Amino acid sequence: MNEFSLIERYFQPLSPVLLKDDAAVLSIPAGHELVVSSDTLNEGTHFIAGADPADIAHKALRVNLSDLAAMGADPLAYQLNIAFSAMPDEIWLEAFTAALAADQAAFGIFCSGGDTTSIKGPLSISITAMGVVPAGQAVTRGGAEPGDVLLVSGPVGGAFCGLQALQRQPGFTVSEALIEACYRPCPRTDLAEAVRMYAHAAVDISDGLVADLSHICEASGVKAVLEAETVPLSEEVKVLLRSGAVSRESLLSGGDDYQLLMAVPPQHTQHFPGSTVIGRFEEGAGVRVQDVDGQVLSFKEKGWTHF
Ligand code: ADP
Ligand code: MG
Repeated sequence: MNEFSLIERYFQPLSPVLLKDDAAVLSIPAGHELVVSSDTLNEGTHFIAGADPADIAHKALRVNLSDLAAMGADPLAYQLNIAFSAMPDEIWLEAFTAALAADQAAFGIFCSGGDTTSIKGPLSISITAMGVVPAGQAVTRGGAEPGDVLLVSGPVGGAFCGLQALQRQPGFTVSEALIEACYRPCPRTDLAEAVRMYAHAAVDISDGLVADLSHICEASGVKAVLEAETVPLSEEVKVLLRSGAVSRESLLSGGDDYQLLMAVPPQHTQHFPGSTVIGRFEEGAGVRVQDVDGQVLSFKEKGWTHF
């Protein structure tokens, strides 16, 4: 199989666009803007060699869908760029593309093309996702205002605990659900409309709650006060915290949960059912993480950085 038969056999079925031209032509609804985001997964950095191709596919697409949700955009189409060190076998390709097809149906997005290349190195998969928002309604990290509350869309720390178990930390066992949390995050595309209607700023939690919150603060020129004890945790993660198997600091700085963090005027929190108020924005700069007594909790590591 060469790359042309690969595209025809495995990637064309993912796409309503005829994958024979140099580029795709996409229409977007009148009065809308295009929101574009890319995320890359590299073997060795984001997944281990020999990882389940379905897991790789789900994660590669979902992290991009999460970025669109954080901007308040609805999914439209994505480009799939892959560098293979050797042509993968058909079992791998079947599993990889079946997982993409399932997520396309689940999240309402289609493949509009991509690029297939060879690499003298590990597998690399880069997806560029495109979404649409009514013109002028995209939400950035830069709009948080003093007086806004800080909302998180769901429990955090699960992916961190799953990763600890995968890396076989001694005495650390967790449920399948937490393992899945690292491989198959649930992008909050369901919140995109509420985000664009009611949030002043939003970010998805990919690097870690505190790190991603500091991105909002920097971009918005405000200070955030995070009440550490109010951050929602799943029952299983609560047990791990109580037993001392994980620290609150690592739950607040571990990444990969893909929940949304949002700055919302207090009167609009009811538009985010299932979300929790975990702090507020004030005049100033930086992130203050405090316990129930208002004592500052200091952080060695705020979140993941590549370099
Ligand atoms: P070029 O040589 O101009 O880069 P390609 O042969 O890479 O053209 O691409 C031909 C067509 O196949 C294009 O429509 C492109 O979008 C599509 N394509 C290539 N690789 C992929 C991929 N990994 N997934 C989906 N479509 C792809
Ligand atoms: Mg190409």
